[in-house]
Amino acid sequence: MLSRKQSPSVAFDQQCDTYAWFSQRAWVEIDLEALAYNVQQLVKFLSPRTQLMAVVKADAYGHGAVTVAQTALQSGASWLGVATVPEAIQLREGGIKAPILILGATHTPEQIHAIAHWQLQPTLCSPKQALVFSNTLEAINYSSPIPVHIKLDTGMSRLGTNWQQAAEFVQLVQRLPHLHIASIYSHLATADSADATVMQEQHRRFEEAIAQIRAVGIEPPCLHLANSAATLADPALHYDIVRVGLAVYGLYPAPHLQNAIDLKPVLQVKARVTQVKTIAPKTGVSYGHQFIAPCELRLAVVGIGYADGVPRNLSNKIQVLIRGQRVPQIGTITMDQLMLDVSSIPDIQEGEVVTLLGEQGKEKISADDWAEKLDTISWEILCGFKHRLPRVAVV
Ligand SMILES: *Cc1c(COP(=O)(O)O)cnc(C)c1O
Repeated sequence: MLSRKQSPSVAFDQQCDTYAWFSQRAWVEIDLEALAYNVQQLVKFLSPRTQLMAVVKADAYGHGAVTVAQTALQSGASWLGVATVPEAIQLREGGIKAPILILGATHTPEQIHAIAHWQLQPTLCSPKQALVFSNTLEAINYSSPIPVHIKLDTGMSRLGTNWQQAAEFVQLVQRLPHLHIASIYSHLATADSADATVMQEQHRRFEEAIAQIRAVGIEPPCLHLANSAATLADPALHYDIVRVGLAVYGLYPAPHLQNAIDLKPVLQVKARVTQVKTIAPKTGVSYGHQFIAPCELRLAVVGIGYADGVPRNLSNKIQVLIRGQRVPQIGTITMDQLMLDVSSIPDIQEGEVVTLLGEQGKEKISADDWAEKLDTISWEILCGFKHRLPRVAVV
């Protein structure tokens, strides 16, 4: 990640030399102070018994995994969660020593060797997978037991062993050499819903599974169940660790959870105006002429497109911020560029900065606004920003 001194946008722009003007046609700005603030707010909200796992899968939801992980750990998080082995290795290669839980499934000898080598912590989803782990570690004569996390399916119907078989599964893993049970966990399917019925049933099943495990004489060393939504919704779901992704990045999982704690969005998406022109009435704009100018208008071309992560389905539906004002995007969004109607600010200059997501003055456009227009969720918008956009850390 590049790094620049704060930032109001103006100071940032003035620092840009000619080279930067071209190289930074578009970029993602990551506000590390906001990130630290969110983590601190979360830690304050938790009881001292509960640790915070910052979920940094998918390159920290598009924010840049290593930088986010470092900042989160410095601000009070004590665990990291990723989806895959390569994501975990990237963190270790970035110098991160904190415990890393791999939330996804791992099976192959290569993955298991990497887990042992890099001191990662896998999720075990089934007895079969547990046997593969134990046998693979046996085959290489691995000396110390590796910490594993038992995943129960309490109603998400994704990874995990059915909660009713929890005790059997835990007993099996406990008997296997080379494995040490570090935690037992499950994942909620509807924690962001205003109706808590399903979440409460999953909570009940999780409790029932724990009771069954205790009934066979095993005390679970550590339990976890909550994602961002459950963390904000109900402290009864916190247990020993909460696995928080979205809220770390400053977004709320649902409108009804906005009062729980104060969060600040971390990511902004910015791009530059690359050409300004006046077009005559009835002129078509962009592929397919999906926009026809109703009158003479001032058009600005911006150097960002769907290959950068601005979804094409937002064409003609969004506004962007320029000089603190909202202006409409017009015509089909193309791979690398999009157009704006800047008739309300006709003296816009080439090189000026446009904020697609983020804040300028009193105006604000959030990933939730885009998600609503696309009938999707903010998680998908954040993960959608491509590596062609440099991540610029603002501190
Ligand atoms: C991604 C993920 C999380 C984090 O979810 P958020 O809603 O972003 O907080 C937690 N637990 C598991 C198992 C996940 O896959």
